[in-house]
Amino acid sequence: MVFTSLDFDAPGKQQGFLQVPYSHNLGGWANVLVPVTVVQNGAGPTVLVLGGNHGDEYQGQIAAMKLAREVTTEQVRGRLILIPSLNFPAAQAATRLSPLDGMNLNRAFPGDPEGPVSSQIAHYLTTVLFPLSDVVIDIHSGGRSMEFVPCSHMHLVPDRAQRAAMFSAMLAWNTEFSFIYADIAGSGLLPVEAENQGKLVVTTELGGGEGVSAKVHRVAQQGLRNVLIHVGLLQGTEETRAGLGLPPTIITQALNRDDYLLAPESGIFEIMVDLGTLVRAGDLVGAIHHLERPDRAPEPVVARSDGFLITMRVPCLTRQGDCVAVIARQVSADEVLHA
Ligand code: CA
Repeated sequence: MVFTSLDFDAPGKQQGFLQVPYSHNLGGWANVLVPVTVVQNGAGPTVLVLGGNHGDEYQGQIAAMKLAREVTTEQVRGRLILIPSLNFPAAQAATRLSPLDGMNLNRAFPGDPEGPVSSQIAHYLTTVLFPLSDVVIDIHSGGRSMEFVPCSHMHLVPDRAQRAAMFSAMLAWNTEFSFIYADIAGSGLLPVEAENQGKLVVTTELGGGEGVSAKVHRVAQQGLRNVLIHVGLLQGTEETRAGLGLPPTIITQALNRDDYLLAPESGIFEIMVDLGTLVRAGDLVGAIHHLERPDRAPEPVVARSDGFLITMRVPCLTRQGDCVAVIARQVSADEVLHA
């Protein structure tokens, strides 16, 4: 069972850990210690900020660590719970999946209190931290496998009031692109569990994994602060893209399987259009080159829908079935809110 010495109701700023039981060959009564910061100051929303759900995604981990160090109790109205590296063993190992149990934490929900470490972390969020929270912010990027146009994103949740609140908060990240996505790769996602509990859920895909530019780090850190102001947790004036002299965000969505292009065979993937480019159905997006038969023509990867290239595979060496590109069509705010 996950234990913490933190008191989530105590006023002021606390630093502590979630302690997750985990035995290994040289540690009989060991725990995995997941760092947590809690800041509580009177009336206001409870906001849970999560980085490192996937261990190889650093933008959110850094943004949450910096905020945890910098934020003062006086700046907060309500309660802020920050977990910079949620899948802590994966963050230590620079991997997407936990090296302790091989699990994808973002497929482990609602979790299991008697399961492996990832299942226990998921269960603690499901049963303790989500019920405490009004807002859940889960900061992702493409990790080592994908590079995204830096965007905030969301599911089309069925509840219209929840959807509208999530839409406003998504826009408050002030990214150039906003992205409505579907779960084509399994169930058990962290945001879905939080959505099912009625929370205002804000998620992102801020670029990629190993190479993160200063610009993308700024988008992560400024966006997080602005969203926290937007939901009434942090003191300050909310910024808008218009106020910053930027064009409106391009709202895109990929809800159909056809929008998610998988490698038809293994080989070396070559992307042929730049991220953020508008393509048409039938356009060549990339190709898979044959390692063993370089004399054979490469296998084409063709867009099956119109839209922007919102993400692409990063490692060129590709296995059959890997997602190599996602095409997201532009939609209006009205379409998102009323579809
Ligand atoms: Ca991710």
